[in-house]
Amino acid sequence: MTQIIDGKIISTQIKDELKSKASELKAQNIEVTLAVIQVGNDPASTVYVGNKKKACEYIGINSLSYELEESTTEEELIALINELNNNEKVNGILVQLPVPKHINEDAIIKAISPLKDVDGFHPQSVGALSIGQKGYVSCTPAGIIQLLKRSNIEIEGKECVIIGRSNIVGKPMSLLMLRENATVTIAHSKTKNLKEITKRADILIVAIGKPKMITREYVKEGAVVIDVGIHRLESGLCGDVDYDDVAPICSAITPVPGGVGPMTIAMLMNNCIESALQ
Ligand code: NDP
Repeated sequence: MTQIIDGKIISTQIKDELKSKASELKAQNIEVTLAVIQVGNDPASTVYVGNKKKACEYIGINSLSYELEESTTEEELIALINELNNNEKVNGILVQLPVPKHINEDAIIKAISPLKDVDGFHPQSVGALSIGQKGYVSCTPAGIIQLLKRSNIEIEGKECVIIGRSNIVGKPMSLLMLRENATVTIAHSKTKNLKEITKRADILIVAIGKPKMITREYVKEGAVVIDVGIHRLESGLCGDVDYDDVAPICSAITPVPGGVGPMTIAMLMNNCIESALQ
């Protein structure tokens, strides 16, 4: 029978563990504070920011909210980030992406102190991950490792194929799977014979951004399939994997919604707690 990997249950377990850690820290007079900056009022970003603030409240992390006008300049945003970098009471800084087009996203990511980079997007955090040093890990890939481990899925020695090489999912995911001793292949839009490659995978991680692209022709029988994609179609939410087609032939799979999605915020909260411990 196919194991359905339940991201809602696992993320709740993690948040409850973090809640106890936060209260232990409070008992030692250590407060954890996350600064959340949103520029403009993109509705999806407002929902994400709201969910992050709710998670902070649940765990016992203070959240400081900065809602800036769409017309905010790059210099003004960097000035606020610098102020927060220097504010000892702030442990973590998060700028909700995407920022408006007139602001250079890379410059914003670089402006955040690596010590407060709870999203794990700073080049120093990514570099640390690639050479096995301590640093913040990007939340979605870190959440996938937790999903696998907490579902008792062995990673070491397994053939892992990741489809997608973005900076926030595919690349850090490959580094984390390597760190867990999987044999890792990364596929992308220029990969030839994609099906042949993905059919080798014991663990197939899909982060393409194309609704239901991965059907059972891409999947080895008995594989573990992790679907990172999220799409809002008229028929409802779906992932990059055609769940109904693939689920019957694999040993374990994440659903959409309720798989990878809830883990991202849980791991952000984990990074916030870590930020208070440095
Ligand atoms: P990007 O668009 O940045 O990257 C997509 C990757 O898929 C690229 O590397 C691209 O290759 C590759 N790709 C595109 N088409 C194909 C194809 N036909 N065959 C093989 N590879 C292909 O997306 P993200 O990594 O940011 O996100 C991926 C998905 O995950 C999206 O649906 C996004 O919404 C979702 N997501 C979900 C999160 C969550 O919390 N659940 C968090 C982050 C993302 P190339 O590099 O050659 O262009």
